[in-house]
Amino acid sequence: MTRNFTGTRGLFVPGPTNVPEQVRQAIDIPMEDHRAPDLPSFMIPLFADLKKVFKTDTGQVFIFPSSGTGGWEAAMTNTLSAGDKVLIARFGQFSHLWVDLCERHGYDVDVVDVDWGEGVPVEIFAEKLAADTDHQIKAVLVTQNETATGVTSDVAGVRAALDSVDHPALLYVDGVSSIASIDFRMDEWGVDVAVSGSQKGFMLPAGLAILCVSQKALAVASEMRSYRCYFDFADMIKTNKDGYFPYTPPMSLIRGLRVAVDMLLDEGLEQVFARHTRLAEGVRAAVSAWGLTLCAKAPKWHSDTVSAIYLPTGFDSGQFVKLAYHRYGLSLGVGLSKVAGRVFRIGHLGDLNELMVLSALGGTELVMRDFGVPFEQGSGVGAAIEHFHATGESEMGTIAA
Ligand SMILES: *Cc1c(COP(=O)(O)O)cnc(C)c1O
Repeated sequence: MTRNFTGTRGLFVPGPTNVPEQVRQAIDIPMEDHRAPDLPSFMIPLFADLKKVFKTDTGQVFIFPSSGTGGWEAAMTNTLSAGDKVLIARFGQFSHLWVDLCERHGYDVDVVDVDWGEGVPVEIFAEKLAADTDHQIKAVLVTQNETATGVTSDVAGVRAALDSVDHPALLYVDGVSSIASIDFRMDEWGVDVAVSGSQKGFMLPAGLAILCVSQKALAVASEMRSYRCYFDFADMIKTNKDGYFPYTPPMSLIRGLRVAVDMLLDEGLEQVFARHTRLAEGVRAAVSAWGLTLCAKAPKWHSDTVSAIYLPTGFDSGQFVKLAYHRYGLSLGVGLSKVAGRVFRIGHLGDLNELMVLSALGGTELVMRDFGVPFEQGSGVGAAIEHFHATGESEMGTIAA
């Protein structure tokens, strides 16, 4: 039985993430007219500011009412048709689902299976692209942050592989659990289609797929004769340019998005990324102090938004996550698919600070103690405290002194 909790629940799954109070208040508004004459003065600057989050000057941002999965569907159906060749690596549940979506749309999917715990194999992609001299490959797909395993891949490396052989394939990035939390550079990395969602780095409830599309991909889309309606880029472009939508937009979420984007830009994207790195390092310090290991096999794969952590053999991570939830109202991520029962995940992205991370780590230690996992009590929390202290803002020292 779940208790009635008097305090806040601890939400540390890698999406949905905690929604900041000012964003919640911005969403909680009376319904409004989505054809109001003053809507464009709100929407057009919002689209412009979203471009800053994607780091693009020339790309076009789309907001679809859907979860991230709909963002994938929009990305693919606008730019590919059945039989088109797609190159993708599979190394976790999310890249697996993206493969599945592509197969269901009838694309010719070249899947490179990689050990779960590693990321996109840039060298193998480079070899395949070099061998594809007649340019059969139309799309190269990169899951920038595999949320199931806590692995971040090298998008710039894949762009370099394409460029080194002048390959014209479009580059697609699933940035659902990375964009607005981990460095992402649409223009500099030559990304053609980037997919994100509202409930992770954007700190909103689920319900918006946020895409950014290059002019090159828009040109492909305008020639593409595949089936789509709800997710059609052309319908969106036609109405968005005047600040409207082709159908009823979820205005409450979009009002919240305005505030979330302001928060990101006010903090500064580089500071947002640095905050995620520092908090993630605190989590990783705790994991190693506990004597546990990450699913991510090497530091270069470490994700700054989610850590997937192996429990020692003999301990079922599914039961562990259940205990955390029922006894303490602490939501940790379960292990998915291949790593089900073996890993649990701590989501550390979005609206997050040191205190929140310490509560996730303290709660995890409490559950480890109850569950009988051998570790030195306080070691993880202590290691995180040490890291946060050592890397803290310098003016804090001045105040303390
Ligand atoms: C969450 C997530 C998705 C799917 O998003 P939904 O909003 O659940 O449809 C896709 N890819 C990655 C990497 C994710 O983390």
